[in-house]
Amino acid sequence: MKKLIIAIDGHSSCGKSTVAKQIAAQLNYAYVDTGAMYRCVTLFAFQNFFINENKIDEEKLITRLNEIDIDFRYSAENQRNETYLNGTNVENEIRSLKISEMVSPIAKIKEVRAFLVQQQKKMGEKGAIVMDGRDIGTVVFPNANVKIFMTASVQIRAERRFKELKTSTPDVSFAEIFKNIEQRDFIDSNRAESPLRQADDAIVLDNSFLTPQEQLDWIMEKIKNKMV
Ligand code: C5P
Repeated sequence: MKKLIIAIDGHSSCGKSTVAKQIAAQLNYAYVDTGAMYRCVTLFAFQNFFINENKIDEEKLITRLNEIDIDFRYSAENQRNETYLNGTNVENEIRSLKISEMVSPIAKIKEVRAFLVQQQKKMGEKGAIVMDGRDIGTVVFPNANVKIFMTASVQIRAERRFKELKTSTPDVSFAEIFKNIEQRDFIDSNRAESPLRQADDAIVLDNSFLTPQEQLDWIMEKIKNKMV
């Protein structure tokens, strides 16, 4: 059986990681959430006071990138992989609105991208991997066997995100989330370094009106066609 590289790119909050995890579980492949890696760099920048009043001290961050160690460990309790930054579990902290608001400006920095892309390439060199992000099919694995580009309307993505965050962050408003998604789409699509774009050979999946099961079936069919 071929050990595929499956690249899933697309807009913020359209369910990439949910479906990527399901695919990895079905195929017994590794799963890498590259957004979590950019979120870790953002948290590191906050921890070291390189972000003040929404301004990033890029120079300082760049010289200290070598102090960042990111890994993913399986939690038997939560039955999922969780993100660790320098040995500390930061899985919940990196999903906060505070991090979401600064992650796209951090992800614009060329040196940050080079630092993370080199690790991502290494993680996938043996295949049998599902990786999700913004530049996986275009930059990290331009030769990926399967490339999916996911999207959905901003309204629907914001509604889904709002539902998710409401329990952990009760004071977050729908308007804040809507604005954050719009802003991240804009920055991610217009940055100079590896902007979010659909690879020429990617298959587009608009999941605005698909159930999670319909979406998974659709993708698994495309993957199975590549396995033969
Ligand atoms: O996937 P997630 O929404 O957690 O990603 C957070 C942010 O990290 C994105 O909005 C984007 O700015 C950045 N990102 C990126 N390239 C990737 C993955 C994420 O620029 N491969």
